Amino acid sequence: MVPINDLARALALQREDLHRAIDAVLARGRLVHGPEHAAFERDLAACVGVAHAVGVASGTDALELALRAVRTDGRDVVVTVANAGGYASVAARRAGLRVRYCDVDPGTHLLDPAHLAGVLDAEVCAVVVTHLYGRLADVAAVRAVVEPWGAAVIEDCAQAFGAVRGGARGGVHAGSLGDAAAFSFYPTKNLGALGDGGAVTTDRADVAARVTRLRQYGWGEKYRIVDDGGRNSRLDEIQAAVLRYRMPLVAAGNARRREVIARYAAAAPASVRVLDAVGPEHAAHLAVVEADDAARLAAHLRTWGIMSEVHYPVPDHHQPAFLTEGRSPVSLPVTESLVGRVLSLPCFPELTDAEIERVCRALAAY
Ligand SMILES: *Cc1c(COP(=O)(O)O)cnc(C)c1O
Repeated sequence: MVPINDLARALALQREDLHRAIDAVLARGRLVHGPEHAAFERDLAACVGVAHAVGVASGTDALELALRAVRTDGRDVVVTVANAGGYASVAARRAGLRVRYCDVDPGTHLLDPAHLAGVLDAEVCAVVVTHLYGRLADVAAVRAVVEPWGAAVIEDCAQAFGAVRGGARGGVHAGSLGDAAAFSFYPTKNLGALGDGGAVTTDRADVAARVTRLRQYGWGEKYRIVDDGGRNSRLDEIQAAVLRYRMPLVAAGNARRREVIARYAAAAPASVRVLDAVGPEHAAHLAVVEADDAARLAAHLRTWGIMSEVHYPVPDHHQPAFLTEGRSPVSLPVTESLVGRVLSLPCFPELTDAEIERVCRALAAY
């Protein structure tokens, strides 16, 4: 089978380097919030081009703590899209906030700034913009709509590490475009740890300070709780060391991911639209296609020995746990029209040329 992802391949290639990075941590004996973690926060801030990066335990925690940090009194609504896996909804609900949904653009599947205008009001504390599939969203357009309402803009960069507009040097990176940004280092992400991890990046000193307190019980200093709503959300020293080693490798990995998607796009028949991933603005996290009957395409690929997956099968406003009685049903025509139409194909840097070729032939034969 051609797998949708296979983490063992990168691990085999990197094994000695990873052992070296982990050994250095073991030799030092600092396991949490030590020198690797501090250096990782500095490396990440420099890489993203922001003043502050704060390590946390997962991408969902990053979203939750960023939301808690930007929240202002009297506003308790978060606006986000319903087609991005539910993470922002889970985070917002954990932060005690209500979620309102905005529809997406049919071409890119990203938040549609034109629809956003009709969703905002004075109750909204933040808009979460997801760089879905790795595509850098037009955050400036979102900010232009949001600013008159005084709400914050948070980027969800979980799928977009390394996406950059205007060249790697001096360019503008995903994670530097809003009031704050959330990253996930879940193992399958473009920058993955050997377990869970996350971070918040921001230029706002107040947001960085608040997230730094909230990730550790709300402590201002040890054992003094100055912020309510804190939790334990630490990124450990071993994961920080692994992430520091892997961070410089992501650019090449992203380029290879884009090459995979370009080859699928060239091979696909007219009935399968491959969402393009062209240039460094796209981190090419997922190779997503649109087809009239995604399940039929998935079955066809399976007969060719090719795995696929749906990102994501259930829009947030249809998730069973979020269906609140008595609430008027939300209408998101574009989001709903994509249900049953999207499918993700194998896409990771270590895919072999033979495997890519096999996916291409299967697409052409559909
Ligand atoms: C993976 C992901 C998250 C959540 O990250 P975790 O580290 O798994 O909590 C959030 N948003 C998006 C878009 C993701 O893909």
